[in-house]
Amino acid sequence: MTWSGWRTVTAAAAAVPAEPVRPRSGGPAPVGAGWPGDAASATTPIARDAAAVGRLAGSAPTMERLDGRVQVCRACPRLVAWREEVAEVRRASYADERYWGRPIAGYGAERPEVVVVGLAPAAHGGNRTGRVFTGDRSGDFLFASLHRVGLASQPTSEHAGDGLQLPRARVLAAVRCAPPANKPTAEETATCNPWMVAELAFVRRDARAYVALGGFAWKALFPALQAAGVPGVPERPPAFQHGAEVLLGDGTHPDAPVIMGCYHPSQQNTFTGRLTEAMLDDVLGRAAAR
Ligand code: SF4
Repeated sequence: MTWSGWRTVTAAAAAVPAEPVRPRSGGPAPVGAGWPGDAASATTPIARDAAAVGRLAGSAPTMERLDGRVQVCRACPRLVAWREEVAEVRRASYADERYWGRPIAGYGAERPEVVVVGLAPAAHGGNRTGRVFTGDRSGDFLFASLHRVGLASQPTSEHAGDGLQLPRARVLAAVRCAPPANKPTAEETATCNPWMVAELAFVRRDARAYVALGGFAWKALFPALQAAGVPGVPERPPAFQHGAEVLLGDGTHPDAPVIMGCYHPSQQNTFTGRLTEAMLDDVLGRAAAR
């Protein structure tokens, strides 16, 4: 069996030729079993409802502890059931892999200058690999661009142990569990929001640019930044637009942090040419230059 990010471990046993063995259970990944990026342990507190999410997000003393708390959250019954069912059944092409099947924490620098915000993990992408935007076409498109503009150490993001580094950037999702049809409900979005708010509170002193990928992230980002204590965020978000820039503060200081809009690198957008490599490079390149 392979386990995303554990391929090198299993490769060590490759001297013994054997038929691939389908694991009895596809997921979710056990806490503390060594999955790369697993920040949770047996003592990490588990949020089982919205109130607990608020309490545990607001009290996390470090980014790492916050990540661990995110990774064991069980506050949304529908999403917990869906992410674990997907991890159990798996897509045929990944049938020999163990899926992560748990919520996805943000990934990258703890003091990033650029923060990229997406919608939610993909069922067979982040929910499989355990890392945001990793293991699907959207992530391929995004990380190749982050590499071209100097924000990622490599152009690919295949599994949680692939060595990808984002020394100046952090990527996170507004909703941390893969939702059916990529559509979280309003209640699920609100329940998950404190995780994003807490993460933004950790990065607010260093972040120069916040890039919202798509209208959902755009709409979620403004109030989350306000709740995180970022000064000068407009009360009412302007309409989402690709390429938009909203300067924080009174809007007159060109060197103030900025919120930027960018079409989501979904296959629907990239296959149709609505979002091209050049368009994504332009937005992320401007963010990197802040
Ligand atoms: S969507 Fe967010 S709040 Fe809901 S279970 Fe997942 S991590 Fe927890």
